[in-house]
Amino acid sequence: MSRRDKMIAKIKELMYEPDQIRNIGICAHIDHGKTTLSDNLLAGAGMISEDLAGDQRFLDFDEQEQARGITIDAANVSMVHDYKDEEYLINLIDTPGHVDFGGDVTRAMRAVDGAVVVVCAVEGIMPQTETVFRQALKENVKPVLFINKVDRLINELKLQPDELQNRFIKIFMEANKLIKNMAPEDKKEEWALDFTNGSVAFGSAYHNWAINVPTMQETGINFNDIIEHCNNENEKELAQKVPLSDVLLGMVVEHLPSPKEAQVYRVPNIWDGDIESPAGKGMVETSPDGPLAVMVTNVSVDKHAGEIATGRVYGGAIEKGTEVYMVGSHGKSRVQQVGVYFGPERVNTDKVPAGNIVYIAGAKGAIAGETLCSPEDKIKEFEGLEHISEPVVTVA
Ligand code: GDP
Repeated sequence: MSRRDKMIAKIKELMYEPDQIRNIGICAHIDHGKTTLSDNLLAGAGMISEDLAGDQRFLDFDEQEQARGITIDAANVSMVHDYKDEEYLINLIDTPGHVDFGGDVTRAMRAVDGAVVVVCAVEGIMPQTETVFRQALKENVKPVLFINKVDRLINELKLQPDELQNRFIKIFMEANKLIKNMAPEDKKEEWALDFTNGSVAFGSAYHNWAINVPTMQETGINFNDIIEHCNNENEKELAQKVPLSDVLLGMVVEHLPSPKEAQVYRVPNIWDGDIESPAGKGMVETSPDGPLAVMVTNVSVDKHAGEIATGRVYGGAIEKGTEVYMVGSHGKSRVQQVGVYFGPERVNTDKVPAGNIVYIAGAKGAIAGETLCSPEDKIKEFEGLEHISEPVVTVA
């Protein structure tokens, strides 16, 4: 079996283990490094060549796509990450960075349980950073923080260790103030960021390194070492000692919830049906055996496969060849293909169970926000997606 086939087999196995899944979004103010980070995470997880990451975007993969007859979706990617001797399936959903795409960001948030908020260390928290925090927290999506472009603080601004630390603390405190203001009441304390537990990391997405306090303790690398590596133009060595993908994906696994954990509190927030009903129980338990419940978060047109709906399976399992009922439009459609992602490629499967991000070909007429269920087991619609794009609270 080739490495690729092994990875695909692993993804198909992990999708049945909701404890081992993390559905996450990476969000940021424009230019703070979201794309660079996403590309380097995928490269680090062995999903694309490291040479391509950073320099060449997925959207430029057209040639490769044509040559190999595969379908690449830049908006959704999945990777397998080893952490403390266990394997995890990490599904990364693209959240458009520009303020005009506020609606899309909200939709993407409906599909995920956790968010990595990227903040540029030079610019600090910007209006769009506040907006993404608001969008995440309103959807009960737990955030962690990555302070990016730290190389610039050292190479351009020539900051000393205590100044670096102060800069990080300032960003961290502002982020925590936003979380305190906007997190759900019962999550305010639990979701507060904490330097010591590793829910905040800092580094350089461009130069491919990242570190947090637990990693500093494990490796013995301190601020002086980091400054030295940057000054000596030796960030490559830093990237080998503390690779961006290891530190960031470790933070994701450790601090962001699995679907199994998250659906317990997220489902009552987005679905006002009876939680004690079979559909309600199935979703709260992330059960693949309960009634089918899928929320469509995006619809795009693919040149090979036609209309592709992407969404989150909250309950049951969606199966190729079966009929689905669209609760909002009262339409029915036969599902032609379902599948999950492998890196940026789509991989067909026979069915996709609760807790996963699914793509569906053949859900004709489905729009973002639509609820899909089985025609025999109709369920109540998911609540509408609210468009949030303007910052309301500003941090002094
Ligand atoms: P996005 O708009 O958030 O997706 O940001 P991009 O990933 O496109 O990055 C914006 C610009 O910042 C690009 O020119 C990147 O090369 C640059 N950049 C991203 N991360 C870093 C970093 O860690 N250090 C430095 N020096 N530049 C970075």
